[in-house]
Amino acid sequence: MLSLRFMDNTIQMVDLVGQYQHIKQEVNEAIQDILDKGQYINGPIVKEFTQNLTHHLNVGHSIPCGNGTDAIQIALMALELQPGDEVITTPFTFVATAEVIALLRLVPVFVDIHPETFNLDVSKIEEAITERTKCIIPVHLFGQCCDMEPIMDIAKRYHIFVIEDNAQALGADYYFGDGQKKKGGTIGHIGTTSFYPSKNLGCYGDGGAIFTHDDELADKMRHIINHGSKTKYHYHYIGVNSRLDSIQAAILNIKLKYLDHYNQQRIQAADYYDVLLKDIPEIQIPNRSAFSDHIFHQYTLIAENRDELQQYLKKNRIPTGIYYPIPLHQHEPYQKYVRKMDLVAAENGSKTVISLPIHTELTKDSQSIIVSHIKSFYSK
Ligand SMILES: *Cc1c(COP(=O)(O)O)cnc(C)c1O
Repeated sequence: MLSLRFMDNTIQMVDLVGQYQHIKQEVNEAIQDILDKGQYINGPIVKEFTQNLTHHLNVGHSIPCGNGTDAIQIALMALELQPGDEVITTPFTFVATAEVIALLRLVPVFVDIHPETFNLDVSKIEEAITERTKCIIPVHLFGQCCDMEPIMDIAKRYHIFVIEDNAQALGADYYFGDGQKKKGGTIGHIGTTSFYPSKNLGCYGDGGAIFTHDDELADKMRHIINHGSKTKYHYHYIGVNSRLDSIQAAILNIKLKYLDHYNQQRIQAADYYDVLLKDIPEIQIPNRSAFSDHIFHQYTLIAENRDELQQYLKKNRIPTGIYYPIPLHQHEPYQKYVRKMDLVAAENGSKTVISLPIHTELTKDSQSIIVSHIKSFYSK
């Protein structure tokens, strides 16, 4: 299997098998240990990983849960928002963000993105606020934080909550004007993340986590993930069943040690792409904000003739991704939430973005091959 992969030199969007090879023994032993002990749910390893994660992010509390979608849902449940309450978010994100808002009978209000960072355009948030606005969910897309300082400032002035959807930027630092820095996901009232396998910190199944500095919210969310029960068969909240299992926690506990290194490997690959791609006028390389690290969950270009480029690369066996091909407000179930504000940057983004392979195992040789095909496409 492995030798085949190397022999045919296939370039992949993500290479989880290659990454696993470096930690195989550690991971296998940790999984074996759980199998030997039989503590599949809420074993001691879940607690250990949770403590390490809390420490790594320098946040008050981490609450592991079943996946990144549940994490956002549980955060919204803990804030006790009422049906009809409005939640401001971006239409240029994975569907989960808006899905859980609608699922709880809250109203997603889409605000346009900044055309270069693809994150919420902070200058457009205030005009979307009404007396029903209770929460903002900024999404730290592609590995780079939204501009959190002005977002928190708006939230404070209007008395609204902020939940950071940090499924794509776990480990990235955000820099405040006064020089202070905090990890993305630890700045809002609540932060969430996903451990889906291809995320920067991914497990080998589903997983997620919620973060907060607020003791009361943390306590509530710890119970909500487990049917709202504080002690067995006593229910204090309407809850859900959303737990991180011990095997995933054991894998994550190992991979957390390497998270900074993994993110560094992605940044190095991105830096090299930047150099290789800088002289192609038809392409705009990723924007890097002064106020945030970019840990390149995706390496996303704005490209002329995007669809033809993708087809051309596909013919040459170079995989690419389009995140996201249709902004959320244009999908049928979400159309009813559209307001007067235009969402032009999100609509343009959907037509022009293309993400290149980026992962911890990407070689410079692969990157050169990828870029040589991009160059030959534009010089046709
Ligand atoms: C992956 C992702 C989610 C959902 O995480 P799951 O673990 O797949 O449920 C939510 N929001 C964003 C921005 C994501 O990228």
